[in-house]
Amino acid sequence: MLSRGSKKPKWMKDIAKERMDILFTLAVKEFSQNPSRSHRYVELARNISKKYNTKIPQKWSRSYCKNCYKFLLSGKNSHTRLVSSEVHIKCHECNNVMIIPYKKEKKLKRRLNINAYIIKKKSNE
Ligand SMILES: [Zn+2]
Repeated sequence: MLSRGSKKPKWMKDIAKERMDILFTLAVKEFSQNPSRSHRYVELARNISKKYNTKIPQKWSRSYCKNCYKFLLSGKNSHTRLVSSEVHIKCHECNNVMIIPYKKEKKLKRRLNINAYIIKKKSNE
């Protein structure tokens, strides 16, 4: 057994990611009926993130406020705008504006595509 300080094994991190994914999916579903429940799901996802020392999946990074940690749904309680080469996301819960550099996002997308390609290639073997 390998154990290095507080590092968690990969399989544990994978489970944590999957759980966070489920929580955010539920948050999206519940938002129109129970926004408070959606906020609670984000809180639970954050607890998992901290406990397993695993980042919240990139695809959900725009779905919560980095300031008040409320669940955000674009066009409902948040507003997404493209300003030059940045993405501005305004949280209507606390009026915080999150700024995501657009370039970084493009780069990340490319990396995701490469990963998808590798997975595809592997499954063909
Ligand atoms: Zn906020």
